[in-house]
Amino acid sequence: MSGLAPLRGHEDVRSALARAVRAGELPGSLLLHGPPGVGKQRLALWLGQLLLCERPGVEPCGECRSCRLSLHLQHPDLHWFFPIERPKGGGSPEKLAEGMEEERARQLAQIREQPLRTLVSDKPIGFFIQQMQTLRRVTASRPAMGSRKVFVIGDAELLVPQESSPDAANVLLKLLEEPPADTTVLLTASDPDELLPTIRSRLLPIRVRALPADDVARFLVEQRGISADAANRVARLAQGSIGHALGFLPDGGEPGPLEKRRADARLLLDAAASPRAEARFAAALRVGPAGARGVFSDVLELLAVWVRDLAAVAAGAAETVVNVDALPELEALAARLPDASAAAPRMVRLVEEARTLAHGNVNPQLTLANLLRGLSEALSS
Ligand SMILES: [Zn+2]
Repeated sequence: MSGLAPLRGHEDVRSALARAVRAGELPGSLLLHGPPGVGKQRLALWLGQLLLCERPGVEPCGECRSCRLSLHLQHPDLHWFFPIERPKGGGSPEKLAEGMEEERARQLAQIREQPLRTLVSDKPIGFFIQQMQTLRRVTASRPAMGSRKVFVIGDAELLVPQESSPDAANVLLKLLEEPPADTTVLLTASDPDELLPTIRSRLLPIRVRALPADDVARFLVEQRGISADAANRVARLAQGSIGHALGFLPDGGEPGPLEKRRADARLLLDAAASPRAEARFAAALRVGPAGARGVFSDVLELLAVWVRDLAAVAAGAAETVVNVDALPELEALAARLPDASAAAPRMVRLVEEARTLAHGNVNPQLTLANLLRGLSEALSS
């Protein structure tokens, strides 16, 4: 198999979008937002395919030349941009722009070859002004094949300066202010609140929901050939996200990247539950330097899941636990901390606050040390 992985779920959004396309009422700029890994970029590419299809119906026909090119990520009028690593070295702006286009082409080729590879990255990534200038130049040119061009910009919240260049967002904003008539721009974001308000206000928001766990499990069985049991366990962890599910699966004999982050998050829970301050410092030092802001944010998100699981077990609702493989340990912990259930709302709030901080320029170790102290106080009060 080569080309895009099949699109799963989101039938309601798909039919609403297809209706708007048929009626000629699809706005020129949309924002698909929803939890990470549920298929927002895949859905945006599906919409692009539909817009470019030569015989569109309720779905893209899947067979015309345009559809085949779209499905192989080779359609000259379907442009997919996503955050990349900061290019090494310097050089003229032209050289940089060229390097970024090469990197984008390399990643597209990789997705074409391995459509199911995990999209979870450990490296700091962002958008750069040269990328957005390239995008803008293409929007100004005529479509190569049909009558329109479609642009998909994934993980658009990363346009906010951190790894990204501050000017990248401005170039995109200019485009959204005066979009060419033959151009559709589709942004995706997990957290629309992180987009610049000036950009967000120019987009029609479309909510993309998590998938039912059964759909995720079926996808894993069909596409990755794993057992139903393993698929169900991973689907539960992934909470409706195929992208996350793939991130939990082993990768080349190693635990998947999200599995490592789940272990780190578990370490933090144990440290928060420890009566020893040294244990909390040690955990903060060990997990803190994990790297890019996405990694840190994932660890904190998974920590919130551990906290909820502990609270569920303490409240006698073990059947709702997400980390089912750790049920005996959670039970032992809950037996030691009978107030965990009452403390959980405050604990989850503290984790969320730390996650918000993690989006800025904070020292992760310090943030974690403070968080663990707060969690420990919540558990013992
Ligand atoms: Zn078609």
